[in-house]
Amino acid sequence: MPPTLNDLFDLVDTHADEVVGLLADLIRFETVNTGIMPTGNELPLCRYVQARLAAEGITSEILCSAENRGNLIARLPGSRGRPRLLLMGHTDVVPVENPEAWRYPPFSGTIADGRVWGRGAADMKDTVAAEIMALIFLRRAGVTLAGDLILAAAADEETGGAYGFGWLAQHAAEAIRADYAINEGGGGPIPLPNGLAYTVPVGEKGRLEAHITLRGQPAHAASPWLGDNVSFKLAEVLQRLAAWQPERDVSAEIFAHLPALLGRREPITPQNVDALADELSQISRQLGSAVRGMSRMTIVPTMISAGVKSNSVPAACKLVCDVRTLPHQDEAYVRGQIDTLLAGIEGASYELIWTAVANASPYDTELTAALRRATAAAAGREDLHWLPSLTTGFTDARLVRPLGIITYGFNPAHPAADLTHPAGVHGTDESAEIATLLFRTKLFIALALDLLG
Ligand SMILES: [Zn+2]
Repeated sequence: MPPTLNDLFDLVDTHADEVVGLLADLIRFETVNTGIMPTGNELPLCRYVQARLAAEGITSEILCSAENRGNLIARLPGSRGRPRLLLMGHTDVVPVENPEAWRYPPFSGTIADGRVWGRGAADMKDTVAAEIMALIFLRRAGVTLAGDLILAAAADEETGGAYGFGWLAQHAAEAIRADYAINEGGGGPIPLPNGLAYTVPVGEKGRLEAHITLRGQPAHAASPWLGDNVSFKLAEVLQRLAAWQPERDVSAEIFAHLPALLGRREPITPQNVDALADELSQISRQLGSAVRGMSRMTIVPTMISAGVKSNSVPAACKLVCDVRTLPHQDEAYVRGQIDTLLAGIEGASYELIWTAVANASPYDTELTAALRRATAAAAGREDLHWLPSLTTGFTDARLVRPLGIITYGFNPAHPAADLTHPAGVHGTDESAEIATLLFRTKLFIALALDLLG
């Protein structure tokens, strides 16, 4: 008799210490990624995980993108090989600013108060540990899947992924090629009047910088009328930016799903989306803010530099704006908006520097259906709702979507998780709740069984 899903869940519960211990071990590898070589040093962690997997009879390979930048890929081959599910994770972490300020030493992997503490605990070694243990438990239980289950624990996410998924997509695409992938992302659950809602990021907004240069005429500050002070042009540009009304856009999938979830009949339109965001903010700040972010491009002035001397009329000014685009808003669209904003301002020019192009996978796929069933099973609840969302930040998902892999962000918290406890992602006292760690392990197991048969 093949094991049932409940048998596998029991296996997770009876071996909870092993799951928790693995996360603590992963935290103890100081895979700090400053972005300046040598950095990351993910290779020792990869070797450790490879040995743990080998002890279970699971083969894996380590692909190095640079010295000590290891990417680990493991596979549970299916009997038919299709479909293929890729569980994604990154093993690098951001630096610790002041270790003295931490409750427990940041690389100790201390287990206390139902949590595992340390840098990377929540971003995202907890999910990586859950993914590794899902493979191990499936293997131990003797489960044979029809499709391939692939684990990729990559380097370098925190500084853009050039040595991680970016490198893999370019140099080892066959190793990670899959039909579906799950990566970090998704918040919540968000309590709504009729149950709990999980957001499933199916796409990411694009991110770029607009470097705007304004030019005037220098002069001695004692005779300002001889110059053309660029500060006043800057003031005009900033006022226009403050008053700018971005086009409201409700083409993101979430807007088709929200009315049913909220029990309303009227569709969401560009005209009513702001009122909706205000209303939702009363229930959940996170959801209200997400609705605003998913319905418009943003252009936000973030850095200003002008002037070289206190007694000189400044002749040039540089204004940097952070710009976030929706998936269909291309460079021409962005240029059109900025051209309008700068219209009539003499001496204004700008250049655009892209960090990430907006991207999205379709929703309502086989993966969506399997994810819903798997989450309900792992949570033991039927009153869960799903909202396809776009994240305002970017993750490794953008690097694998171009390979044709339908990729969703989904490492959700346990339905009963203490959401008031700050996870400390990128901050002080980062920690992961053990209940969520075990929940995710079950979720990945259930998803593999459901999707890969
Ligand atoms: Zn992360």
